[in-house]
Amino acid sequence: MDHKKLKLIVRLQQLDDELDLILSEQKGLPEEIRDLEDDVASINRQLDQRKKLSDENDIRKKQLKAEVLSAMEKISKYKDSQSSARNNKEYDALSKQIEYEEQEIKKSEAQIRNIEEAAERKAALEERGRQMMEENRFDEISEDMMPMDILQTQLKDVTEELAHKKAELDSIIQETEDEVQEIEAKIERQRVIVEAEAKQILGKYDHLRNGGVHNAVVKLHRHACSGCNTRVPTNRHAFILQGGFYSCETCGRIVVHERLFEEALSMEA
Ligand SMILES: [Zn+2]
Repeated sequence: MDHKKLKLIVRLQQLDDELDLILSEQKGLPEEIRDLEDDVASINRQLDQRKKLSDENDIRKKQLKAEVLSAMEKISKYKDSQSSARNNKEYDALSKQIEYEEQEIKKSEAQIRNIEEAAERKAALEERGRQMMEENRFDEISEDMMPMDILQTQLKDVTEELAHKKAELDSIIQETEDEVQEIEAKIERQRVIVEAEAKQILGKYDHLRNGGVHNAVVKLHRHACSGCNTRVPTNRHAFILQGGFYSCETCGRIVVHERLFEEALSMEA
């Protein structure tokens, strides 16, 4: 590897650094926005679930009440018929039907009570949640303890914050758009050159960058890899001085002579 080829990768590192620096002006906003979007989705999911359950209960209660009403109407009809029954057999048959409808009414009323009691238990749970919030015991509050109005307030707050952060990010992106495009174009051109001239080291570079090591190429500083501060073996110093590179045994970074960084700066991409 001669130092000219090595300089190409150093230049690529410098350009990637420039881009990273501009993107760092976004101050973690993309991550914050993702988190807020997750929050909004989670609150909406909870609100939807509650609405669905409450709608289902309302419909079921209406059905049950209608069933009670229709059974009562039947009973009153049967009673009318009883008064004009021609014999005991007819009268008893009607009595059995009345009894059956009365049982049906009891069953429906029990179901209505179940639904109402479940709603009361849920309301009590939310009331307990509200008290715990007042006592700052947020960690102990489960999802179904969150009072509905507080969920709605949270949704409003989080949605507002999300819009605010998005606007902030948009304005940063707009401000830096030209610069980012320019550097991205430079990086692209530089990569084509490195690919042609030093494909192997580009593979190593990309491998490090993709693994989260942003400074894949580093200077030899005080006889050590400036990426992780591990000493570079003395017998490699001369090679680095002559323009070669050393693969740090500890962190895997590409260690080069610092002169190459100065020289690479003046290269045009
Ligand atoms: Zn190292």
